Amino acid sequence: MSVTAVTGSASGIGAAVAQQLREAGHTVIGIDRQQAEVVADLSSSEGRKKAAEQVIALSNGQLDGLVCCAGLGVTAPSSSLVVSVNYFGSTELIDLLHPALAKSTNPAITIIGSVAAGQQTAQPHPMIELMLSNDEQAARTAADELAQPHIAYSASKYALTMHCRRLAVTTGSTGVRLNIVAPGAIETPLHEASKNDPRFGEAVRNFIAPIGRNGQPSEIADAVSFLQSPQASFVHGSIIYVDGGMDAMMRNGNF
Ligand code: NAD
Repeated sequence: MSVTAVTGSASGIGAAVAQQLREAGHTVIGIDRQQAEVVADLSSSEGRKKAAEQVIALSNGQLDGLVCCAGLGVTAPSSSLVVSVNYFGSTELIDLLHPALAKSTNPAITIIGSVAAGQQTAQPHPMIELMLSNDEQAARTAADELAQPHIAYSASKYALTMHCRRLAVTTGSTGVRLNIVAPGAIETPLHEASKNDPRFGEAVRNFIAPIGRNGQPSEIADAVSFLQSPQASFVHGSIIYVDGGMDAMMRNGNF
């Protein structure tokens, strides 16, 4: 059975992914700020390097899977933190762990994006280009100057999705598959905090998917389990929306 590192494993979607993989017999190395095999802060390069070093040690240098779930929502303490955790907390970790993944026979990475990324397709905010050019400090400054956490959030997820799709093309020959799951509204502590926020709560509560309900973390874990499995052996660079029809409602001609 495989060894998979899961970021954000202490709560919500990451916890559901970790549980489902463990129940299927896989070894999970959870990475989080607390209650995890690897306790690390993915908001800094130092924390990401520490996390990668520990994962490599725990997996004896060969990793079969990486699932990047750690993230902050619109109630995060700052927009710069959203940029650092949501974008760089995934992209730098992927870079650091890619050599260990490339040693496996059927390696796969799944990134948790968001249906919110689609909000940036019409007019991408300039901070996206700063993220894509790997300039963390400039992207953080641009996000804090804008002081609109919902834009920092959608921008971080749009940049992350674009980066991963580019990486899927350039690193495809290494055999490491890389896909994105884009959740809609999922009942987790992050979503609960957004619903209760005085700035965004009403909009979040009114954002109902065509299917008529919010999703459960286990429904995202189902998609992740598929993407990480040999059944998805030809799925690479794809975005799977698990959103109750939200993206179809918002952008039905844009695919
Ligand atoms: P959550 O708050 O329940 O879990 C997020 C986890 O990330 C927590 O365990 C937290 O400790 C960890 N984390 C945050 N900052 C970290 C840091 N600096 N270092 C290490 N770990 C850190 O949230 P969730 O809803 O399960 O979110 C998981 C992912 O799903 C996020 O990337 C989020 O953007 C994405 N997402 C969630 C929804 C939703 O409606 N819940 C929708 C779309 C996308």
